[in-house]
Amino acid sequence: MTDALEWYSHTVPEAHAKFLSSASRAGVAVEEVVHPLVGPAGEEIRSAIAETGPADASNVLLCLSGIHGIEGYFGSAIQCHALAHSATVLPLPPDTKAVFIHLVNPWGTAWSSRENEDNVELLRGNYYCHHPKPPNPIFSDFFETMGYRTITSIDEFLSGRGRVGKLLKRYEPGELMSAIADGQDTHPDAITWVGNGPTWSKQLIDRVLRERCCGTGKVLVLDLHTAVGPPGETVVFTGYAPGTPKDQMVRSWFDGELWPWPEYLEFYDWVSEVVPGTDVVSVTMEAGTEQIGPVDQYIFPLDVWIKTYGDRDDPSAVPHLERYRRFFYPETPEWMRSVHAHGSARWMPLLRGFAEWISESKGESR
Ligand SMILES: [Zn+2]
Repeated sequence: MTDALEWYSHTVPEAHAKFLSSASRAGVAVEEVVHPLVGPAGEEIRSAIAETGPADASNVLLCLSGIHGIEGYFGSAIQCHALAHSATVLPLPPDTKAVFIHLVNPWGTAWSSRENEDNVELLRGNYYCHHPKPPNPIFSDFFETMGYRTITSIDEFLSGRGRVGKLLKRYEPGELMSAIADGQDTHPDAITWVGNGPTWSKQLIDRVLRERCCGTGKVLVLDLHTAVGPPGETVVFTGYAPGTPKDQMVRSWFDGELWPWPEYLEFYDWVSEVVPGTDVVSVTMEAGTEQIGPVDQYIFPLDVWIKTYGDRDDPSAVPHLERYRRFFYPETPEWMRSVHAHGSARWMPLLRGFAEWISESKGESR
């Protein structure tokens, strides 16, 4: 009997070594991709790609970990376990392969950051490489009101938290939260910046798609994250509006239980622009961490502020950085075992659903 803890890691090199070992157990080759920057201990950091199933398969399950950097240790554990036991854990439909990209944003994972080396929030950043970004004036008001550019110390940052009260006179709390979460393309030094073009990580995904999605069949993207959902459990959701065909299809795979996600953004619709002719569905799986109250929300902009204006080695920064890492990666044995069991149990319904989707479309085209 193996313990789920064996699949988890504390550093990027450790996670990378586990991915190599899982691929070796599965008897498959790994493509290693060295990142141009190093981790906090000066260590080399890498993404890695491995696949199982027929190389020329028409349909692809594309499984990504670490889009949001620090969230990648959970995804890494799910991927390493599934790859090592692919014969039993991953019953792929006919004419289908699974492609794993391990730690898409290894810089963020290594530096315990949700963003990448350019401060880009990659999930929405990737999407907005293919779509115009709607204006976000509430975000600009938030950023200017909080005065992040004029702050010179962590103490000053913390004492300025009360300014959020001014914003709450102008906006509903939900409106303000959405404006921050939806992303912005006006402040490269702020939280949820979507960037201004394809990042190192986006170029990696694009290349993998072009080289490894050789058919014109179905692509099912499984994107692994942490934070959303009940602590210690996993939830699945999509960016499809309720009632649309893809929403209904994915909902049926999980017995109707999709986590309500109000941001109707088809996160991976751009895959069919990179690989024309494919039909794409994406599913996000999140491992729930803690429920964070309004008082602690400051850790998200503070992390970006420390990265852009502060000093990570400043002793007064350390407890906040550790708090931030713990939020996205609790790293307690109870949490790791629990979300691993929950998450691994999702493979069966996901792959059964994928098989149905493939066979239904074959029926339609006959
Ligand atoms: Zn995430």
